Amino acid sequence: MAQHASHAAFGKQPKHAYVQWDEAVQWGCSLKGWNCCVDKGIAVRPYDLVRLRHALGRPSNEITSDETVTFAWHGGLLIGSLAHKPYTPGHVACTFFEEMTNVGARALRESDPDAFAALPERVRAAADAPAKGEYRVAGLCGAHQNRPEVCRAFPYQREVGLVLADGTLEDVRARRVNLCGSCALSTPTTPREVVATEDVAEYWRANDAFSAVASYYRSRGAGNFDDPRYRRLPLPQADLTQLWAAMYLPDSDPVVRERYPEQWRAPLDIEGDRAIHALVLEHALDRLDALLAQLGVDSAALGTKGAPDVPRPQLDRLLDPSREPIPPAAPLTFAPERRVDDAPRPEATADTSAA
Ligand code: SF4
Ligand code: SF4
Repeated sequence: MAQHASHAAFGKQPKHAYVQWDEAVQWGCSLKGWNCCVDKGIAVRPYDLVRLRHALGRPSNEITSDETVTFAWHGGLLIGSLAHKPYTPGHVACTFFEEMTNVGARALRESDPDAFAALPERVRAAADAPAKGEYRVAGLCGAHQNRPEVCRAFPYQREVGLVLADGTLEDVRARRVNLCGSCALSTPTTPREVVATEDVAEYWRANDAFSAVASYYRSRGAGNFDDPRYRRLPLPQADLTQLWAAMYLPDSDPVVRERYPEQWRAPLDIEGDRAIHALVLEHALDRLDALLAQLGVDSAALGTKGAPDVPRPQLDRLLDPSREPIPPAAPLTFAPERRVDDAPRPEATADTSAA
C-alpha cells in the first residue's frame, strides 16, 4: 500500500454512502480516534463479546455485570453496546479509548519500556519530538486485537441484505459509515484493501451466523416487536430477554465451561473462539426448539403473518473459515492479444516502394 501523504480533504461528501469494494479512495487511518472512538455508540454482538473476554482477561458474565457491555432491543433483536467515559467537555469516549500525548509517550518510556516498545512507530517517535508543549499523538484502543467488528474497518463496513441458513449471502454491499474528516490521512487505497488489513472476515462470518440465528428466532416468535402483525411467543418479557442474553454469555454455558475452561485468559485464540461461538449458537437454537415443543406451539402460528418459516441455520457452513463474506474482486479484462503478423499491412505507395 502507498505511504500516507497529507490529511484527507473530503469536501462536502455525505457521511454515509455506498461505495464499490474496488473503487479508488483517498483514506488512511491517523490512529487518533477523533471520529471513531468519540461520541459513537459501539455495537457488540455475541462474537464481539467472545473476543472482548480476551482483551479484558475476564469472563463474559463479569463484563456484562459490571456494565462494560450493556444491552437494549434494536429492531426486535437484543444488541449489546460498549460503555462510555467522559472525554472533553460535552463529549464521551469509548471505555477502551486512551489518548496518548507526546508527554505521555515519554513518561511511558520511563515507567514501562515494554509497553512503550509495543506502541506504533509514529507514537514512539513523538516521545523525542522537539515540541515544547503537550499535544495529542494518538488514540490507543485498550482492546485493539479483539476490538468489535464495527471498529475494525471503520469507516468502511459491510452491509448484507439477507443471510440464508446455508451461509449464502444476498445483496452484500460496502458502505462508508462516516467521514473521518481531518482525523484521516490521504492515502490512495480501496475499501477492499482497508478491510483486508483490518482482519475482519472472521467477525463477518461469526456475525452472519448470529444473523441467521436471529432470523430463526424472529420467524418462531422470539423477536421483540411491537407490530400487531407479529405473533410473539407466549412468554414474559424477562424470559425472552434471557433467551437472547444467553447468546452473549459463553462462560455461563456448562459445555463451554467444561471444554474450554477459562479460555478467556488466552490473549488470542481465534479457533477456540470460533468453536465456542458455534456451541453457544447451537445451544441457543436447541433451547428455542425445546421451548416450542414444551409450549406445544406450531411455528407456523408464530412470527410475521405470511412470512415463510426460516430453516434451522447450518452453523458449520456459516462459520467455515473458507467461506468468503464479501464478493471477490472482478477479474481484470484485457483486449485479446494480437500478433504482429496479424496487423494489417499498409498499402505500398509510390514513395515507399521507391525507397
Ligand atoms: S482516521 Fe478515521 S478510523 Fe482512523 S482514527 Fe481517525 S476517525 Fe478513526
Ligand atoms: S473498542 Fe477500541 S477502536 Fe472501538 S471505539 Fe473503543 S477504543 Fe475505539
